[in-house]
Amino acid sequence: MYLLINADHRLDKAVWRPSEHFDLRPSGLQPELVVVHCVSLPEGEYGTGAAQRLFTGELDCGEHPSFADLEGVRVAPHVLIDRQGQIEQFVSFDKRAWHAGVSVWRGRSGCNDFSIGVELEGTVAEDYTVPQYRKLIQLVGTLMDAYPRISADAIVGHCDIAPGRKADPGPKFDWLRVVGQVHRHMGA
Ligand SMILES: [Zn+2]
Repeated sequence: MYLLINADHRLDKAVWRPSEHFDLRPSGLQPELVVVHCVSLPEGEYGTGAAQRLFTGELDCGEHPSFADLEGVRVAPHVLIDRQGQIEQFVSFDKRAWHAGVSVWRGRSGCNDFSIGVELEGTVAEDYTVPQYRKLIQLVGTLMDAYPRISADAIVGHCDIAPGRKADPGPKFDWLRVVGQVHRHMGA
């Protein structure tokens, strides 16, 4: 099973939910880094569609008391993988999605400039699902082929590029499982 990226830098099979929460990458910058996040709105509730509405600017912050601090927040990943392993895409991979915020990777700040943001539906306190891992591993392999500047050691968590500020995807995320498969992909 393999994913395809079209000439317009979108996944062939993903549900396309266009967001305006992006702009252009600085000229000449290609994706070099994949940043893994997690999200659920309300926290720990799945399948509500609220995270998707946040990313497309359609969330009514009156929907739930915990959404009050999301008023005016303009963020989006490139893609979200839900608990069933379905992928939705919000921003084309060649564009700069607003997912990382203040961040540093190997001494370089502003990771949105050169990264791809992947949200997993979940929380830092709960295991991710088998279909999510399966789809994430497929996605990372596909991205590495499409954007050769992404190396096997350039798959990180939001927590790694914004330590102290962000904890996602959290201690339940099985890095060995993902990185092991990515290295197998490299050797194939
Ligand atoms: Zn995050």
